[in-house]
Amino acid sequence: MAGESAPGLFPDLSLPDQSPSTGLFCQVALNRPMRCQYTYAVPEHMAEGLAPGMRVAVPFAGRRSVGVVVGLTEGTDIPAKRIKSVSDVLDPGPLLAQELLDLTEWMAAYYACSWGEALAAVLPAALKREGGRRTTAMLVAEDGVGPEQLVQLEERHPKQYRLLRTLLEVDGMIERKDILRRLGLSDSPAKSLAKRGWVRVENVESAQDDLLGGDASDRTRPDTLTPEQDASVVALEGQLDRGTYATFLLKGVTGSGKTEVYLRAIEYALAQGKGAIVLVPEIALTPQTVGWFRARFGNVAVLHSRMTDVQRLSMWRRVHAGECRVVVGARSAVFAPVPDLGVIVVDEEHEPSFKQGNVPRYHGRDVAVMRARKAGAVCILGSATPSLESWVNAEAGRYSLLELSSRVHGGPMPKVQVVDMRAEIAEVKRSVIFSRALIRRLKEALARGEQGILFLNRRGYSPVLWCRACGETVTCNDCSSPMNLHKRHGRLVCHTCCGESLPPTDCPSCTAPGLRFLGAGSERVEALLEEQLPEARVRRMDSDTMLRREDYEETLAAFGQGEIDLLVGTQMIAKGLDFPRVTVVGIISADSALHLPDFRAAERTFQLVSQVAGRAGRADLEGHIVIQTVAPEHHAIVQASRHDFETFAALEMGHRKELAYPPFGRLIRMVFEDEDEERGKDRAQHCAEVLRAQVAGPGLQVLGPAPAPFSMVRGRHRVHLLMKVGEQFTGADRVRSLMLELAHETGKTRVQIDVDPVGML
Ligand code: ADP
Ligand code: ZN
Repeated sequence: MAGESAPGLFPDLSLPDQSPSTGLFCQVALNRPMRCQYTYAVPEHMAEGLAPGMRVAVPFAGRRSVGVVVGLTEGTDIPAKRIKSVSDVLDPGPLLAQELLDLTEWMAAYYACSWGEALAAVLPAALKREGGRRTTAMLVAEDGVGPEQLVQLEERHPKQYRLLRTLLEVDGMIERKDILRRLGLSDSPAKSLAKRGWVRVENVESAQDDLLGGDASDRTRPDTLTPEQDASVVALEGQLDRGTYATFLLKGVTGSGKTEVYLRAIEYALAQGKGAIVLVPEIALTPQTVGWFRARFGNVAVLHSRMTDVQRLSMWRRVHAGECRVVVGARSAVFAPVPDLGVIVVDEEHEPSFKQGNVPRYHGRDVAVMRARKAGAVCILGSATPSLESWVNAEAGRYSLLELSSRVHGGPMPKVQVVDMRAEIAEVKRSVIFSRALIRRLKEALARGEQGILFLNRRGYSPVLWCRACGETVTCNDCSSPMNLHKRHGRLVCHTCCGESLPPTDCPSCTAPGLRFLGAGSERVEALLEEQLPEARVRRMDSDTMLRREDYEETLAAFGQGEIDLLVGTQMIAKGLDFPRVTVVGIISADSALHLPDFRAAERTFQLVSQVAGRAGRADLEGHIVIQTVAPEHHAIVQASRHDFETFAALEMGHRKELAYPPFGRLIRMVFEDEDEERGKDRAQHCAEVLRAQVAGPGLQVLGPAPAPFSMVRGRHRVHLLMKVGEQFTGADRVRSLMLELAHETGKTRVQIDVDPVGML
């Protein structure tokens, strides 16, 4: 709406010493890391109609900045000389309802950030600055540019090389912001390539949103519900009739029809004249998923991270105006400005991707519950493998539990075979990636014209380059991460910073020749499958092969139409796919997440194995799951193979309770990053001491500082502190404000505060 009140439309009468103040002041939240809101005087001609939730332009640190009015007062204690005036009012009416203002105020306090930073998560990018961008910058390689140009860049300009190589692979236009983020690059390699005349930037008005083009009719409304679905819907409708807040945990095995329950609850809310938000993990946000909602409700707004700023703004406006009553989206859709919110659904509520990785580091699920509470709405958290946090809340009665324990089509849960890879290797007397059982199942399925999915949590060809002589492995120069071989590009790649190098022939540590590539990533699995099952049509699906969202959709469509027999992939294939002809699912190594230094390692493994296993045998065909592991006795693997969430949860809770880890108490993590190792450590040490002296005590433990598991990233050393906050501890607010104070002390060390972290690396 910046265009509707263009700067300059009103003469600027707001210089503090010229215009007499009306006595009206507003508190403005700015998107900066600061501890309070700033107060500005409101010039007389702007006072009328000014309300919280409207954006204003204000002078801040010598510049004009856009902020959101969060309060209005008749007077202030701040001396008149120090008060500046609002420069412009940017909106004709509030963009944000009181409910979203309250929600962001809570987020700022809870996640220890500024109110303005929390608001920045709510507003679409185009509304965060004046005259927001109307076009989207796309990059494309010029015609005729090819291998010849690549060779010229290879030696001396590795970043330009990487960018051009990727653009040539994309073979079309791709959004600049998106590709630079993916390759971990700044703008400068793109500029240099443009200067050479090899790449061009095109500013497009509005790219087509592929999520809205999907087929809207592939799931019809069933006439009857299963008894369990029916009971859940009755409970939800009852709550909607009461019109007050409640959260439900909908625990339903894969294929039990959770989506139909969401759809019915939303139907009911719409009939009451209310709106709804559905959050799904980014990766599950496919045309198929969106199609289910569009088939039922027609006008559905979609919000996701890969939308252009222009698309996002236009969606946001339609939701704000009440034109779209149902919003489906990834994490940030929890902030969609739906008026009269009736229902918020969080599907796959256990997913760690609901947590945002940068400020404000909020958890979409927890914000959804809080928003429902503030809006008097019903929150539905759905999962086959609920997070232990939600499970404990259900056990304690804070959430109501709804269960779908059987599959809609009555079929049994797929048979799971756990293969002990240590025994397998001992029997076949060599190191193998595929067990004999897995190959046999795949061959049988192929012979019947059925399909298979192979899951592996790692991309590239080989994750370890190992020297036999000295035992060292090759790591990135800038990170403590190993270098992975990507064979197609003939390069070693760091998965932390995206940096590349040529594979050395001799060990960089001891100069002995004969480095060996150990282990397998998706690229190697694909190659091995083609070798061992030449009759199969194999396709790999990971972020190296799926450069554009279209690639992902096209591959899934080809798989759905039976043009591909075996799909090999990473996380990308673990979620929400529903293909009736898939009868074999193989998990190449179920242990890859198990040994991470993270207290949730077992929970993640259980979730992942259960999730992947749910991809088989969803229709009338029998499904087989083969789980390869070197830890067949681990409770995560044992219980996942039995589809037994409750036993897993009970065992895991025992461990958590002993160590006072969530869901028994909470964690707050502080990460200190510095190029200078000692300086970073000192800063962390200082913070630890202050926290110990001022807030530690019964119910609050300060652990560390200690090197973070990823002890170096992009040339910065990383140290972290962990606070364990007991359930009974009451001073958490004081802890957060002290942390914020410590984080804002000037210094070169970067300090991050992460409340309820989902990862500890
Ligand atoms: P979940 O999300 O729990 O894994 P889905 O919602 O994907 O399960 O449902 C599995 C399948 O069952 C879908 O193909 C869906 O269309 C179908 N389905 C759901 N409910 C019913 C019902 N009451 N009658 C017939 N089919 C149903
Ligand atoms: Zn690196």
